Amino acid sequence: MRLRNVPGSRDMIAESPFTIKDETEWKGRWNEVFDNDHPIHIEIGMGKGQFIMTLAKEHPEINYVGIEKYSSVLVRALEKQQEMELPNIKFIRMEAENIAEVFAPDEVARIYLNFSDPWPKDRHAKRRLTSVQFLQRYENILQKDGHLIFKTDNRDLFDFSLEQVEEAEHWILLNHTFDLHHSEYVEGNVMTEYEQRFVEKGNAICRMEIMQKAPE
Ligand code: SAH
Repeated sequence: MRLRNVPGSRDMIAESPFTIKDETEWKGRWNEVFDNDHPIHIEIGMGKGQFIMTLAKEHPEINYVGIEKYSSVLVRALEKQQEMELPNIKFIRMEAENIAEVFAPDEVARIYLNFSDPWPKDRHAKRRLTSVQFLQRYENILQKDGHLIFKTDNRDLFDFSLEQVEEAEHWILLNHTFDLHHSEYVEGNVMTEYEQRFVEKGNAICRMEIMQKAPE
């Protein structure tokens, strides 16, 4: 994500009714935030929010939480939300590493990762959102039958992620494709901002769907 400092974005996030400020305080009671018991789907690293806001509009029966670490990107989603006023979406500005402090075990029904930062240097592998370290964090919040869906055009990151699923003890690969837009999984696919850009450039999009193994 190209970063541009957007003046006042921190203030806007702090004042917005659509962002959750003390996110750890809602751990285990996110149903109170939304005032219903609908399932919660989250996107980690949502950028400007096109993907998750499209889903929220299409699925009023699901609650969405968009997570993004940079204020200057998150404000773009807030600007859209001021127009749309979707009742079933909230945003958190936070570093994903702390995700298990924000949601209780089984509180999240689905996790989306879209075009996550590649962190190409080996010594930064732990920072990739599909590393074994992150998969372990997701185990603490994702329902046992909940899926994690990951899309990227970065083949190295995708291959790494396939290996990590294998290496992580508690995960199984449900399906994957190296060319989403020419596969059966394209049906109902909602494009992200990055995806639109990369598809226009002719890049193939990889996608995988994984879940936790049933306990033996
Ligand atoms: N999902 C969007 C944006 C992809 S760019 C799309 O597909 O269009 C990746 C985004 O993830 C960036 O906005 C970046 O700031 C955010 N991000 C990367 N690592 C993160 C982390 N550890 N915690 C929270 N957000 C993160």
